[in-house]
Amino acid sequence: MNATRHDPRSVCPGCSNGKLVREARTARYEYRDEICEYEQVGDWCTSCGEAILSGDDMAATEGVLLDFMRRVEQKQAGELARIRRKLKLTQKQAAALTGGGHNAFSRYERGEAKPLPAVMHLFRLLDRHPELLEELKSQKA
Ligand SMILES: [Zn+2]
Repeated sequence: MNATRHDPRSVCPGCSNGKLVREARTARYEYRDEICEYEQVGDWCTSCGEAILSGDDMAATEGVLLDFMRRVEQKQAGELARIRRKLKLTQKQAAALTGGGHNAFSRYERGEAKPLPAVMHLFRLLDRHPELLEELKSQKA
């Protein structure tokens, strides 16, 4: 009687086209311009490539992603501090340049606040072209 029991999860709810196959695939997670590739077990669609994840599936990779985010935060905080010191700027001067409030850099460098992408991009540019700092400093707001 139940021989043709319908499994509601066998067809992808995203595209209604593909079949869902339970397997581990390499997934990508992007955070602050950095990418983490990790193995995600879930019900993957054979057509659109989306995954349906249960709470357990997500819990299994949550630690990996939290670790990744923490490492990115520490790395970017260290990167900002290194570039700021190379440019011989105090935290206050760096904050004045980027407009984040006078405590912004001490908070970025302790990992307590997330710098805007524009701040990271500006500092990476100044890291490669430190001579441009003089041009920035000479501009009156
Ligand atoms: Zn699909």
